[in-house]
Amino acid sequence: MKEMLQKIKDDAFRQIEESDALEKLNEVRVSFLGKKGELTAVLKSMKDIPAEEKPMVGQMVNDTRQAIEVLLEETKKKMEKAVLDAKLKNEVIDVTLPANKSNLGHRHPNTIALEEVERIFVGMGYEVVEGPEVEYDYYNFEALNIPANHPAKDEQDTFYINSNMVLRTATSPVQVRVMEKGQLPIRMIAPGRVFRADEVDATHSPSFHQIEGLVIDKNITFADLKGTLAEFAKQLFGAETKVKFRPHYFPFTEPSAELDVSCYKCGGKGCRFCKGEGWIEILGCGMVHPNVLRMSGIDPDVYTGFAFGMGLERIALLKYEIDDMRLLYENDYRFLKQF
Ligand SMILES: [Zn+2]
Repeated sequence: MKEMLQKIKDDAFRQIEESDALEKLNEVRVSFLGKKGELTAVLKSMKDIPAEEKPMVGQMVNDTRQAIEVLLEETKKKMEKAVLDAKLKNEVIDVTLPANKSNLGHRHPNTIALEEVERIFVGMGYEVVEGPEVEYDYYNFEALNIPANHPAKDEQDTFYINSNMVLRTATSPVQVRVMEKGQLPIRMIAPGRVFRADEVDATHSPSFHQIEGLVIDKNITFADLKGTLAEFAKQLFGAETKVKFRPHYFPFTEPSAELDVSCYKCGGKGCRFCKGEGWIEILGCGMVHPNVLRMSGIDPDVYTGFAFGMGLERIALLKYEIDDMRLLYENDYRFLKQF
Protein backbone atom coordinates (compact mmCIF):
# COMPACT_ATOMS: atom_id res chain seq x y z
CA MET A 1 0.00 0.00 0.00
CA LYS A 2 2.80 2.35 0.96
CA GLU A 3 4.64 1.73 -2.35
CA MET A 4 1.42 2.25 -4.28
CA LEU A 5 0.80 5.63 -2.66
CA GLN A 6 4.43 6.66 -3.26
CA LYS A 7 4.03 5.73 -6.92
CA ILE A 8 0.80 7.78 -7.21
CA LYS A 9 2.57 10.74 -5.60
CA ASP A 10 5.61 10.42 -7.90
CA ASP A 11 3.37 10.12 -10.98
CA ALA A 12 1.32 13.14 -9.91
CA PHE A 13 4.43 15.29 -9.24
CA ARG A 14 5.95 14.35 -12.57
CA GLN A 15 2.75 15.16 -14.49
CA ILE A 16 2.37 18.48 -12.64
CA GLU A 17 5.93 19.43 -13.52
CA GLU A 18 5.34 18.50 -17.14
CA SER A 19 2.17 20.63 -17.34
CA ASP A 20 2.71 23.71 -19.50
CA ALA A 21 -0.77 25.23 -19.22
CA LEU A 22 -3.49 25.75 -16.66
CA GLU A 23 -5.81 23.36 -18.54
CA LYS A 24 -3.22 20.59 -18.37
CA LEU A 25 -2.84 21.21 -14.65
CA ASN A 26 -6.56 20.83 -14.18
CA GLU A 27 -6.52 17.51 -16.07
CA VAL A 28 -3.85 16.27 -13.68
CA ARG A 29 -5.97 17.33 -10.70
CA VAL A 30 -8.99 15.43 -12.02
CA SER A 31 -7.05 12.28 -12.85
CA PHE A 32 -5.57 11.98 -9.33
CA LEU A 33 -7.96 13.76 -6.97
CA GLY A 34 -11.26 13.67 -8.90
CA LYS A 35 -14.20 11.33 -8.19
CA LYS A 36 -12.74 8.74 -10.52
CA GLY A 37 -9.14 9.69 -9.74
CA GLU A 38 -6.40 7.33 -8.69
CA LEU A 39 -6.22 8.52 -5.09
CA THR A 40 -9.98 8.29 -4.69
CA ALA A 41 -9.81 4.72 -5.92
CA VAL A 42 -7.34 3.95 -3.14
CA LEU A 43 -9.72 5.47 -0.57
CA LYS A 44 -12.54 3.31 -1.93
CA SER A 45 -10.37 0.16 -1.49
CA MET A 46 -9.89 1.00 2.23
CA LYS A 47 -12.81 -1.19 3.11
CA ASP A 48 -10.69 -4.26 2.28
CA ILE A 49 -7.96 -3.20 4.70
CA PRO A 50 -7.86 -4.76 8.20
CA ALA A 51 -9.38 -2.40 10.80
CA GLU A 52 -6.19 -1.97 12.83
CA GLU A 53 -4.30 -0.74 9.74
CA LYS A 54 -7.01 1.70 8.65
CA PRO A 55 -5.83 4.78 10.64
CA MET A 56 -2.26 4.42 9.39
CA VAL A 57 -3.29 3.93 5.77
CA GLY A 58 -5.85 6.76 6.04
CA GLN A 59 -3.10 9.08 7.28
CA MET A 60 -0.84 8.09 4.38
CA VAL A 61 -3.58 8.71 1.82
CA ASN A 62 -4.30 12.11 3.35
CA ASP A 63 -0.61 13.08 3.37
CA THR A 64 -0.30 12.09 -0.27
CA ARG A 65 -3.42 14.03 -1.19
CA GLN A 66 -2.16 17.11 0.65
CA ALA A 67 1.26 16.96 -0.97
CA ILE A 68 -0.32 16.76 -4.43
CA GLU A 69 -2.73 19.62 -3.64
CA VAL A 70 0.07 21.89 -2.39
CA LEU A 71 2.16 21.30 -5.48
CA LEU A 72 -0.87 21.83 -7.74
CA GLU A 73 -1.64 25.15 -6.03
CA GLU A 74 1.97 26.40 -6.19
CA THR A 75 2.28 25.47 -9.84
CA LYS A 76 -1.05 27.13 -10.63
CA LYS A 77 0.12 30.40 -9.03
CA LYS A 78 3.41 30.30 -10.92
CA MET A 79 1.56 29.75 -14.20
CA GLU A 80 -0.87 32.61 -13.56
CA LYS A 81 2.00 34.94 -12.76
CA ALA A 82 3.82 33.90 -15.94
CA VAL A 83 0.66 34.60 -18.00
CA LEU A 84 0.29 38.05 -16.38
CA ASP A 85 3.98 38.87 -16.90
CA ALA A 86 3.73 37.94 -20.57
CA LYS A 87 0.63 40.10 -20.95
CA LEU A 88 2.30 43.10 -19.28
CA LYS A 89 5.37 42.66 -21.42
CA ASN A 90 3.24 42.66 -24.59
CA GLU A 91 1.27 45.72 -23.56
CA VAL A 92 4.20 47.83 -22.41
CA ILE A 93 4.21 51.39 -23.84
CA ASP A 94 7.33 52.48 -25.67
CA VAL A 95 7.74 56.11 -24.62
CA THR A 96 10.41 56.67 -27.26
CA LEU A 97 7.94 56.17 -30.12
CA PRO A 98 6.72 59.42 -31.78
CA ALA A 99 3.37 60.52 -30.33
CA ASN A 100 0.16 60.72 -32.37
CA LYS A 101 -0.12 64.31 -33.57
CA SER A 102 -3.30 65.98 -32.35
CA ASN A 103 -4.54 68.90 -34.40
CA LEU A 104 -5.27 71.52 -31.77
CA GLY A 105 -6.96 74.64 -33.07
CA HIS A 106 -5.69 78.08 -32.22
CA ARG A 107 -6.85 81.66 -32.02
CA HIS A 108 -7.95 83.62 -35.09
CA PRO A 109 -5.74 86.64 -35.97
CA ASN A 110 -8.71 88.91 -35.15
CA THR A 111 -8.93 87.39 -31.69
CA ILE A 112 -5.18 87.67 -31.14
CA ALA A 113 -5.29 91.36 -32.13
CA LEU A 114 -8.34 92.01 -29.92
CA GLU A 115 -6.71 90.38 -26.91
CA GLU A 116 -3.63 92.53 -27.48
CA VAL A 117 -5.73 95.74 -27.57
CA GLU A 118 -7.72 94.65 -24.51
CA ARG A 119 -4.52 93.85 -22.62
CA ILE A 120 -3.18 97.36 -23.25
CA PHE A 121 -6.35 99.20 -22.17
CA VAL A 122 -7.11 96.92 -19.21
CA GLY A 123 -3.53 97.70 -18.14
CA MET A 124 -4.52 101.38 -18.12
CA GLY A 125 -7.54 100.67 -15.92
CA TYR A 126 -10.22 100.30 -18.59
CA GLU A 127 -13.21 98.01 -18.31
CA VAL A 128 -14.28 95.80 -21.26
CA VAL A 129 -18.06 96.01 -21.92
CA GLU A 130 -20.36 94.67 -24.63
CA GLY A 131 -23.65 95.74 -26.15
CA PRO A 132 -26.33 94.33 -28.47
CA GLU A 133 -25.69 93.84 -32.19
CA VAL A 134 -29.34 94.56 -33.02
CA GLU A 135 -29.76 98.11 -31.80
CA TYR A 136 -32.39 100.82 -31.59
CA ASP A 137 -32.03 103.57 -34.17
CA TYR A 138 -32.00 105.93 -31.17
CA TYR A 139 -28.79 104.46 -29.67
CA ASN A 140 -27.12 103.93 -33.02
CA PHE A 141 -27.77 107.45 -34.35
CA GLU A 142 -29.87 109.94 -32.41
CA ALA A 143 -28.18 109.67 -29.02
CA LEU A 144 -24.86 110.04 -30.83
CA ASN A 145 -25.88 113.42 -32.20
CA ILE A 146 -26.92 112.02 -35.58
CA PRO A 147 -30.58 113.10 -35.96
CA ALA A 148 -32.86 111.98 -38.81
CA ASN A 149 -31.87 113.56 -42.15
CA HIS A 150 -28.28 114.00 -40.93
CA PRO A 151 -25.90 113.27 -43.82
CA ALA A 152 -23.79 111.01 -41.58
CA LYS A 153 -26.73 108.61 -41.49
CA ASP A 154 -26.46 108.09 -45.24
CA GLU A 155 -22.70 107.55 -45.07
CA GLN A 156 -23.19 104.50 -42.89
CA ASP A 157 -25.16 102.23 -45.21
CA THR A 158 -27.43 100.70 -42.66
CA PHE A 159 -29.22 97.34 -42.45
CA TYR A 160 -32.66 98.09 -41.02
CA ILE A 161 -34.60 95.45 -39.04
CA ASN A 162 -37.67 97.72 -38.99
CA SER A 163 -38.30 101.47 -38.83
CA ASN A 164 -36.67 101.88 -35.41
CA MET A 165 -34.21 98.97 -35.17
CA VAL A 166 -30.95 98.45 -37.05
CA LEU A 167 -27.95 96.14 -37.12
CA ARG A 168 -25.57 98.50 -35.33
CA THR A 169 -23.26 100.32 -37.74
CA ALA A 170 -20.65 100.96 -35.06
CA THR A 171 -19.83 99.99 -31.48
CA SER A 172 -20.54 103.63 -30.46
CA PRO A 173 -24.09 102.92 -29.15
CA VAL A 174 -22.45 100.95 -26.31
CA GLN A 175 -21.06 104.32 -25.12
CA VAL A 176 -24.61 105.67 -24.76
CA ARG A 177 -25.81 102.56 -22.93
CA VAL A 178 -22.96 102.87 -20.40
CA MET A 179 -23.38 106.67 -19.97
CA GLU A 180 -27.12 106.27 -19.37
CA LYS A 181 -26.42 104.13 -16.31
CA GLY A 182 -25.00 107.32 -14.75
CA GLN A 183 -22.11 105.61 -12.98
CA LEU A 184 -19.22 108.05 -13.31
CA PRO A 185 -16.36 108.19 -13.96
CA ILE A 186 -16.29 105.92 -17.04
CA ARG A 187 -13.22 104.23 -18.50
CA MET A 188 -14.27 101.53 -20.94
CA ILE A 189 -13.61 99.82 -24.22
CA ALA A 190 -16.37 98.01 -26.14
CA PRO A 191 -15.29 95.50 -28.78
CA GLY A 192 -17.86 93.89 -31.05
CA ARG A 193 -19.30 93.05 -34.45
CA VAL A 194 -20.82 95.82 -36.58
CA PHE A 195 -22.68 95.79 -39.89
CA ARG A 196 -22.86 97.96 -42.98
CA ALA A 197 -24.41 97.37 -46.38
CA ASP A 198 -20.99 97.34 -48.11
CA GLU A 199 -19.85 95.27 -51.05
CA VAL A 200 -17.07 92.82 -50.21
CA ASP A 201 -13.60 93.88 -51.40
CA ALA A 202 -10.03 93.88 -50.03
CA THR A 203 -10.88 96.50 -47.39
CA HIS A 204 -14.68 96.21 -46.96
CA SER A 205 -17.08 93.63 -45.60
CA PRO A 206 -20.78 93.87 -44.62
CA SER A 207 -19.79 92.53 -41.20
CA PHE A 208 -16.64 93.53 -39.38
CA HIS A 209 -15.43 94.44 -35.87
CA GLN A 210 -14.77 97.66 -34.04
CA ILE A 211 -13.29 98.55 -30.69
CA GLU A 212 -14.86 101.59 -29.06
CA GLY A 213 -13.28 103.53 -26.23
CA LEU A 214 -14.77 106.06 -23.83
CA VAL A 215 -13.47 108.06 -20.87
CA ILE A 216 -15.71 110.44 -18.89
CA ASP A 217 -14.56 112.25 -15.77
CA LYS A 218 -14.02 115.74 -14.39
CA ASN A 219 -11.20 117.70 -16.04
CA ILE A 220 -10.60 115.32 -18.93
CA THR A 221 -8.89 117.25 -21.74
CA PHE A 222 -7.57 116.65 -25.24
CA ALA A 223 -4.16 116.19 -23.61
CA ASP A 224 -5.51 113.06 -21.86
CA LEU A 225 -6.77 111.77 -25.20
CA LYS A 226 -3.40 112.34 -26.87
CA GLY A 227 -1.40 110.85 -24.01
CA THR A 228 -3.61 107.76 -23.80
CA LEU A 229 -3.66 107.00 -27.51
CA ALA A 230 0.07 107.71 -27.94
CA GLU A 231 0.78 105.19 -25.17
CA PHE A 232 -1.58 102.70 -26.82
CA ALA A 233 0.17 103.11 -30.19
CA LYS A 234 3.61 102.61 -28.61
CA GLN A 235 2.50 99.45 -26.83
CA LEU A 236 0.85 98.05 -29.97
CA PHE A 237 3.41 99.01 -32.63
CA GLY A 238 6.63 99.53 -30.66
CA ALA A 239 8.27 102.12 -28.40
CA GLU A 240 9.66 104.13 -31.34
CA THR A 241 6.17 104.81 -32.74
CA LYS A 242 5.28 108.48 -33.27
CA VAL A 243 1.69 109.72 -33.43
CA LYS A 244 0.03 112.47 -35.45
CA PHE A 245 -3.48 113.83 -34.88
CA ARG A 246 -5.18 115.18 -38.01
CA PRO A 247 -8.36 117.32 -37.60
CA HIS A 248 -11.45 115.45 -38.73
CA TYR A 249 -15.23 115.53 -38.35
CA PHE A 250 -17.49 113.14 -36.42
CA PRO A 251 -21.00 114.13 -35.29
CA PHE A 252 -20.49 112.75 -31.78
CA THR A 253 -17.14 114.37 -30.93
CA GLU A 254 -15.90 117.96 -30.98
CA PRO A 255 -13.10 118.57 -31.71
CA SER A 256 -12.49 115.37 -33.66
CA ALA A 257 -9.32 113.88 -35.08
CA GLU A 258 -7.89 110.94 -36.91
CA LEU A 259 -4.81 109.29 -35.45
CA ASP A 260 -1.89 108.32 -37.66
CA VAL A 261 1.10 106.33 -36.41
CA SER A 262 4.56 106.47 -37.94
CA CYS A 263 5.11 103.52 -40.26
CA TYR A 264 6.67 100.75 -38.18
CA LYS A 265 8.18 99.24 -41.33
CA CYS A 266 10.24 102.23 -42.50
CA GLY A 267 10.16 104.40 -39.39
CA GLY A 268 8.48 107.24 -41.32
CA LYS A 269 10.78 107.48 -44.35
CA GLY A 270 8.12 106.12 -46.69
CA CYS A 271 7.88 102.61 -48.11
CA ARG A 272 5.60 100.28 -50.05
CA PHE A 273 3.79 99.30 -46.84
CA CYS A 274 2.75 102.89 -45.98
CA LYS A 275 2.34 103.76 -49.68
CA GLY A 276 5.22 106.23 -49.41
CA GLU A 277 3.44 108.30 -46.76
CA GLY A 278 5.53 107.35 -43.73
CA TRP A 279 2.29 107.39 -41.71
CA ILE A 280 -0.56 104.90 -41.26
CA GLU A 281 -4.06 105.86 -40.12
CA ILE A 282 -5.31 103.66 -37.28
CA LEU A 283 -8.36 105.23 -35.61
CA GLY A 284 -10.80 108.12 -35.16
CA CYS A 285 -11.17 110.03 -31.90
CA GLY A 286 -12.28 113.24 -30.26
CA MET A 287 -13.74 114.98 -27.22
CA VAL A 288 -17.28 113.75 -26.52
CA HIS A 289 -19.78 116.27 -27.94
CA PRO A 290 -21.69 118.17 -25.20
CA ASN A 291 -24.96 117.18 -26.92
CA VAL A 292 -24.08 113.49 -26.51
CA LEU A 293 -23.29 113.96 -22.82
CA ARG A 294 -26.50 115.94 -22.27
CA MET A 295 -28.69 113.34 -24.02
CA SER A 296 -27.29 110.64 -21.72
CA GLY A 297 -28.00 112.73 -18.63
CA ILE A 298 -24.43 113.92 -17.97
CA ASP A 299 -23.80 117.63 -17.30
CA PRO A 300 -21.19 118.82 -19.84
CA ASP A 301 -20.31 121.77 -17.59
CA VAL A 302 -19.11 119.34 -14.91
CA TYR A 303 -17.91 116.34 -16.90
CA THR A 304 -15.87 116.04 -20.06
CA GLY A 305 -14.51 113.04 -21.88
CA PHE A 306 -12.97 111.56 -24.95
CA ALA A 307 -13.91 108.71 -27.24
CA PHE A 308 -12.16 106.69 -29.91
CA GLY A 309 -13.05 103.92 -32.32
CA MET A 310 -10.91 101.60 -34.38
CA GLY A 311 -11.50 98.75 -36.80
CA LEU A 312 -10.26 95.49 -35.34
CA GLU A 313 -9.58 94.03 -38.79
CA ARG A 314 -7.48 97.08 -39.64
CA ILE A 315 -5.35 96.49 -36.55
CA ALA A 316 -4.99 92.78 -37.39
CA LEU A 317 -4.11 93.55 -41.04
CA LEU A 318 -1.48 96.08 -39.97
CA LYS A 319 -0.04 93.98 -37.18
CA TYR A 320 0.34 90.84 -39.30
CA GLU A 321 0.98 92.62 -42.63
CA ILE A 322 -2.02 91.06 -44.35
CA ASP A 323 -3.07 92.89 -47.51
CA ASP A 324 -6.61 91.56 -48.01
CA MET A 325 -9.31 91.64 -45.35
CA ARG A 326 -11.20 88.77 -47.04
CA LEU A 327 -8.46 86.37 -45.89
CA LEU A 328 -9.67 86.91 -42.32
CA TYR A 329 -13.13 85.53 -43.17
CA GLU A 330 -12.41 82.74 -45.64
CA ASN A 331 -11.26 80.39 -42.87
CA ASP A 332 -8.64 78.84 -45.10
CA TYR A 333 -6.65 76.67 -42.71
CA ARG A 334 -3.42 77.23 -44.66
CA PHE A 335 -3.78 80.96 -44.02
CA LEU A 336 -5.01 80.81 -40.43
CA LYS A 337 -2.36 78.41 -39.18
CA GLN A 338 0.37 81.01 -39.81
CA PHE A 339 -0.59 83.05 -36.77
ZN1 LIG B 1 6.60 102.80 -44.42
